[in-house]
Amino acid sequence: MSSKQNPLDAAAIRADFPILHQEVAPGVPLIYLDNAATSQKPHTVIEAMSDYYTRYNANVHRGIHKLSEEATDAYEGARKRIAKFINAASSREVIYTRNTTESINMVALTWGQANVGPEDAILVSEMEHHSNLVPWQMLAGRTGAELRFIPATRGGFLEMGALDRLLDERVKLVAVTHMSNVFGTINPVVEIAARAHAVGAVVMVDGAQSVPHMPVDVQALDADFFAFSGHKMLGPTGIGVLYGKRDLLEAMPPFMGGGDMIKRVEFTGADWNDLPWKFEAGTPSIAEAIGLGAAVDYLSGIGMARVREHEIAITAYAIERLAEAPGVTIFGPQDATVKGGVVAFELEGVHPHDIAEILNRDGIAIRAGHHCAMPLHRKFGIVATARASFYIYSIPSEVDRLIEALYKTRAMFA
Ligand code: PMP
Repeated sequence: MSSKQNPLDAAAIRADFPILHQEVAPGVPLIYLDNAATSQKPHTVIEAMSDYYTRYNANVHRGIHKLSEEATDAYEGARKRIAKFINAASSREVIYTRNTTESINMVALTWGQANVGPEDAILVSEMEHHSNLVPWQMLAGRTGAELRFIPATRGGFLEMGALDRLLDERVKLVAVTHMSNVFGTINPVVEIAARAHAVGAVVMVDGAQSVPHMPVDVQALDADFFAFSGHKMLGPTGIGVLYGKRDLLEAMPPFMGGGDMIKRVEFTGADWNDLPWKFEAGTPSIAEAIGLGAAVDYLSGIGMARVREHEIAITAYAIERLAEAPGVTIFGPQDATVKGGVVAFELEGVHPHDIAEILNRDGIAIRAGHHCAMPLHRKFGIVATARASFYIYSIPSEVDRLIEALYKTRAMFA
């Protein structure tokens, strides 16, 4: 049976998320539309973490005692399920980090430092989150490499034609987001990777917004490096992933030195551990990795194709309702099938911070600001936008409440 005939039941899913069943003030239920910033957690994730602390808290990879073995099995078991979730060829290619930001910085500091020099160029898209821009600015600053940009159009797409002039053999790395956290645009990563590889460049994909919301297959994308965060995909904060192709990771120098990342140490030198532990110095985020494993189980149980279909439906509904609201301008693509569940908009005559503030009085949580994409906003002469973002538990009545609140906000400023 196709997933189209079997849509996910968002109303039933809500029962699994304790935080959603609250009133932010008497008689004002919470409407959480800030999922691109972070997602809420189902009780299976909360319980998996609590169970670790309650029953088998111990350090991993070290003790030869029952609790440590149990903790190691859970920590490494989660890695295997995460690897399967993104279709990595091996769980050795899945490195635990703190978040997307740390994953990208790790590549910039290790691979970047070893492979980028003053004659080289780094190609970044204009629609990157600061996390996939600033580390490359810093690398360019340290090495003297040139930074080049794939332009973003006002309509919210990358100017793919510009690759003809931007991509040459000086480009050592192309950094691109899989799904924009402002426009929601799903970028043509397969094509970008193929063109980057043709000139010998490696590709760093920011998957912070894609992995939580759509099926992702890192091998099909042919991404060399791929980063994402646990907290945006029903998991806890403090855990993220850097996926990297094995040969690249093997050749890379380690990130931080310390316990666990070594095989053998002498006073004057050390041998590095095998992948993935070579990049995991010190006691890791054990409970958080176990929590992320539970989040992956929850999402796999629903099926990512169904997650994506649900988000297309709720986003299409939000775009339709926003488009008919007076004074609203939507930023980026208006076709829900080419974007994720993120809608950035402006309301004529009202600053986005005022919108967020007034919506908050009705229990509606949205984001207002530059969404960590300041240069992109500047390029189009926009200081800030309001952003509503959806997830598996978002329901049409929440969109209706958002629209009602926007009408009210506009009336207040009329
Ligand atoms: N990239 C994108 C596209 C994002 O949306 C975010 C989070 N807003 C990040 C990177 C950074 O994620 P984190 O703060 O978890 O490192």
